Amino acid sequence: MKIAVASGKGGTGKTTIAVNLALAIEGDVQLLDCDVEGPNAHLFLRPCIESVRPVGISTPRIDADRCLGCGKCSDACHFNALLRIRKKIKIIQNLCHGCEACQLVCPTGALALEPRRIGSISEGMAGPIPIAFGELDIGQSLSVPVIRELKALVRGHAHTVIDCPPGTSCPVVEAVQGCDRCLMVTEPTPFGLHDLKILAKVLGRMGVPMGAIVNRDNGTYEPLEEFCRSSGIPVLMRIPFDRRIAELYSRGEVLVDTYPGFRERMVGLFNQVRA
Ligand code: SF4
Ligand code: SF4
Repeated sequence: MKIAVASGKGGTGKTTIAVNLALAIEGDVQLLDCDVEGPNAHLFLRPCIESVRPVGISTPRIDADRCLGCGKCSDACHFNALLRIRKKIKIIQNLCHGCEACQLVCPTGALALEPRRIGSISEGMAGPIPIAFGELDIGQSLSVPVIRELKALVRGHAHTVIDCPPGTSCPVVEAVQGCDRCLMVTEPTPFGLHDLKILAKVLGRMGVPMGAIVNRDNGTYEPLEEFCRSSGIPVLMRIPFDRRIAELYSRGEVLVDTYPGFRERMVGLFNQVRA
């Protein structure tokens, strides 16, 4: 079973849920940290890293002697990564998504593609749990290719827990795609509810079954309850607003080992998810 853990906004406790869920599942489970702009699941699990490999995309290089300056490549680029200025083509590397369309339309073969590194993927073991996380290089912004390569590691395990990037844009869609269920971690505030609504809409369009987890629950925030009720979204778990949890988190400790009753609650969560 593939379980995505997502949140419409950052800082809701998404990684806490992903890490502790992976630790609570008995048997063959892997953890993929797809929050490639700031992966931190490994800070809690402290894996033994066995390999680190680069991730890259194809970006164009232009042979000025063969270029006619026709502009067909810049017309084909939907990301505005190629500018035609006085019959010369300028490449803006950071806007290039590596789609290779420019090479297909070039009539003279003036455009060659070469790999450009944008990030890396690390793989290792945290006890019996295989863990992999992606990391964008400093200054890079293209998360999706790194997440796509991470998702290629989803195979051969009974269960996979995916820690998604925060938000609701393309990287989240890439991370959630193909999952059997998505857990939406939220908090009982107007901001939390606002972003939960957007995430629920995205998941609804994708057809991914979803459930909510309310973190820092300090009583009933009725608008959140009403939204979940009226949308048919089950609230699968509530985590209390407890200073001890924040202290354990800040020390990089996992709750299933340190917070009373948390392991049993995560096992209960997993049983609900796969029911
Ligand atoms: S399509 Fe080819 S020939 Fe035309 S401007 Fe681009 S690189 Fe030059
Ligand atoms: S590879 Fe795609 S995104 Fe990059 S410059 Fe060419 S057309 Fe644009």
